[in-house]
Amino acid sequence: MAQDRRTAVVTGAARGIGAAIAKQLAHDGFAVAVLDLNEASCKDTVEAITTAGGTALAVGADVADEASVAAAMERIVAELGGPTVLVNNAGITRDNLLFKMDVADWDAVLNVHLRGAFLMSRAVQKHMVDASFGRIVNLSSTSALGNRGQVNYSAAKAGMQGFTKTLAIELGKFGVTANAIAPGFIETEMTAATAERLGIGFEDFKRMAASQIPVNRVGQPEDIANLVSFLVSEGAGFVSGQVIYAAGGPKA
Ligand code: NAP
Repeated sequence: MAQDRRTAVVTGAARGIGAAIAKQLAHDGFAVAVLDLNEASCKDTVEAITTAGGTALAVGADVADEASVAAAMERIVAELGGPTVLVNNAGITRDNLLFKMDVADWDAVLNVHLRGAFLMSRAVQKHMVDASFGRIVNLSSTSALGNRGQVNYSAAKAGMQGFTKTLAIELGKFGVTANAIAPGFIETEMTAATAERLGIGFEDFKRMAASQIPVNRVGQPEDIANLVSFLVSEGAGFVSGQVIYAAGGPKA
């Protein structure tokens, strides 16, 4: 039991960007709830944290399911203490052109990103308000600006931005900030799956992406974790309601 320790929850933390964020926050001194759909899939992230001397708890939950979120929160509060940091990172893609997109793919994407961020934020805010301190970071995307084949995902990621700004307005007086990070191309299984769907080798896909990025490389999960580390810090208390594009160059 570590009630005196600061507790952070990172969703979708079994791999990719979420895993890098969980490891960074553990390094920063947080006890981290590593939450993902399947508890067993959290093992690698939890082991990496505990091997480095940190504290982590694997939590299996579907962020889009109200009862699952409630059960997860109960466990996190009991085992790590009330969270004051939440990173809504869990995400999926179900890409298709509008005329070929079925309702299930629309609903699945909107549910994981928007319903998931809503349910998690609603469950965690009480602990932040009680502590008069909180930090919420939501994962948006450059796809919020529009991206062919992603009408569901771009709508969800634009929605995350409005959601973030309203959280910032409602929760600011309780010492809680909310910000969104909108990554560009980050090398993870999600972008590898996109390359596969397009029939392009991942190395070629990355090279093509990098040629369009001013810093001349694709992003790594740690690029996003470093920004989260700042946004959840004590010193970031006057930065709220912002959307920060982390894309190796400017985005509108
Ligand atoms: P990823 O490698 O696919 O990892 C996403 C994780 O979220 C997976 O472990 C997945 O679990 C989990 N997840 C999916 N649905 C969930 C649910 N309902 N409840 C709990 N966990 C769930 O993706 P990533 O590239 O690291 O992306 C992380 C976030 O950044 C996402 O929100 C994504 O949209 C955003 N983003 C990524 C990029 C990029 O270029 N990679 C760019 C912009 C934004 P399963 O494996 O069991 O499905």
